Amino acid sequence: MLSRLNIASRQFSVSAAACKPETVKNWINGRAVESKTSDWIELTNPATNEVIGLVPKTTQQEMQEAVDSSSEAFHKWKNSSILSRQQVFFKLQSLIKRDMRKLAENITLEQGKTIPDAEGDVSRGLQVVEHACSAASLQLGENLQNVSKDMDTYSMRIPLGVTAGVCPFNFPAMIPLWMFPLATVTGNTMILKPSEQDPGACMMLVELAKEAGMPDGVVNVIHGQHEAVNFICDNPAIRAISFVGSDQAGKYIYERGSKNGKRVQSNMGAKNHGVIMPDAAKDATLNQLVAAAYGAAGQRCMALTACVFVGESRKWIPDFVEKVKKLQVGPGSNAKTDVGPVISKQSKQRILKIIDSAKNEGANVLLDGSNVKVSGFENGNFVGPTVITGVKPNMTCYKEEIFGPVLVCLEAESLDEAIDMINKNPYGNGTAIFTSSGIAARRFTNLVDAGQIGINVPIPVPLPQFSFTGNRGSFLGDANFYGKAGLNFYTQWKTVTQLWRAEDAAPEAKPQMAFP
Ligand code: NAD
Repeated sequence: MLSRLNIASRQFSVSAAACKPETVKNWINGRAVESKTSDWIELTNPATNEVIGLVPKTTQQEMQEAVDSSSEAFHKWKNSSILSRQQVFFKLQSLIKRDMRKLAENITLEQGKTIPDAEGDVSRGLQVVEHACSAASLQLGENLQNVSKDMDTYSMRIPLGVTAGVCPFNFPAMIPLWMFPLATVTGNTMILKPSEQDPGACMMLVELAKEAGMPDGVVNVIHGQHEAVNFICDNPAIRAISFVGSDQAGKYIYERGSKNGKRVQSNMGAKNHGVIMPDAAKDATLNQLVAAAYGAAGQRCMALTACVFVGESRKWIPDFVEKVKKLQVGPGSNAKTDVGPVISKQSKQRILKIIDSAKNEGANVLLDGSNVKVSGFENGNFVGPTVITGVKPNMTCYKEEIFGPVLVCLEAESLDEAIDMINKNPYGNGTAIFTSSGIAARRFTNLVDAGQIGINVPIPVPLPQFSFTGNRGSFLGDANFYGKAGLNFYTQWKTVTQLWRAEDAAPEAKPQMAFP
């Protein structure tokens, strides 16, 4: 039996036939609170489709309680010393490390990815917690003495107030950790809405934050879908929204939130191209490509999902397919699994439809994972690793974000042709080139229009000292997530100009009427 988790979000036992789904709680004012809603969403294990929990559609009144709690907490929290706020994150860092395995098991159960990959999910979020521990340096303002005689100006970065975060399903720990550590260490409070498809890790993290000393009300959690999102976009007390997810929801939240005068940062979909030059180190490159295309069953916004073989490198495709064939498909809880299930039945159907469209539109499905069977897990949402070659930019499988274990392969005669293809694609999250030529890499870096570039690095997600800089169709807003930009997003400037003069003016001095 997989470990029995005992968390406020819910209790469950994976194997027990008599398992009655527990309800996921709201997290309001530092307590797990049962929702009074009559509207619940089924939480399923993607490897079995067994119902493992019920997620509430938090009621309007409960959402208002969350906002009231965050508004009240803000006044005290923003005036707490920054060193004491940092201390919460020093402690949280060690608690997340302590509970790493528990968090990963919950992610595997609810999201489907393998345990090592789930630990990676937590670890990449943990790096943001560690970054938040240096907020006292990051939040320093600016100061200029003697802007005029006896006059000085200084600027402070101050918090906004109540902020909100709306999260996707694919990184249940990392994305909430992109949001609440930087939002709160800078003095804001935050209302999180995790994905209704896997809220468990987020619930565990806010419990850990409480254990680390975070005062009640600084982070609250509500649940649901559109109603919760509309509430966040419309509630006047919420000053800023961080969103990560699909294009449709991202554009909607950006527009609705902005119309209501809120700051919004919206990270959305992607189609990340990997360019394989014929001078690349062949085996290392193909291994990296396999991992970047099929890891997490392709459900990463920075997965390499379109591969452009330049010139002679197209001859490597058969060797690539042989490597892909060796991947094991299965439940994330199995140590031998390389590719877990996709998140839902609907997602599986959507992916299979795109594979079909490739067949109908003249591409070549060289390896077809549509009918994969996993013994003992016949009801799971499994799609086997799929390789589609002969793909042209006008095909559905190229135009749509697949978000599954499917790699589309294109061909180009030259590096410039590959760059041109990438620049014509509306997304700009990330891209990578594999080459042994510094000159090719430099040309690629200069000419390609994507926000994050890897050179012999397949998934170039920057550490939090930098920011996650997806651009074009993959991002809406001014300030990216984490790093300097993330800190800017959660703070506003207040600039003070002060005059301290020892002597008074002469009694006969006149007011200076001209603009100074
Ligand atoms: P999603 O947009 O379906 O859901 C994200 C959140 O928005 C959820 O909390 C959901 O409840 C809410 N939501 C969904 N549809 C909505 C709607 N129509 N109106 C209002 N709210 C809505 O996304 P997902 O399927 O959970 O996540 C996968 C997507 O996220 C992919 O497109 C992926 O590329 C993207 N993603 C992007 C990044 C990035 O940094 N660019 C990172 C991770 C995931």
